[in-house]
Amino acid sequence: MQDELIDLVIDCTDNFSARYAVNRVCHKTRTPLVSGAAVEWEGRLMVFDFKSEPSPCYHCVFPEGEDIKERRCATTGILHH
Ligand SMILES: [Zn+2]
Repeated sequence: MQDELIDLVIDCTDNFSARYAVNRVCHKTRTPLVSGAAVEWEGRLMVFDFKSEPSPCYHCVFPEGEDIKERRCATTGILHH
């Protein structure tokens, strides 16, 4: 990834390992990251501006290695009850 060619990354992936990988590359290349998620009735949108230091990252919000129950929209669904 060459950061001068990419202005912004929008992450709508469906699992933590992909999100951590996208987060790592964006943080390293200081590419702004927009992270969107939808599970059941929840929608979540986070913007990380890695151009301004210090900036928190996806990893700061959802620390890796902690026992977070992964809820994928493929298995949990969106807007069901
Ligand atoms: Zn972080």
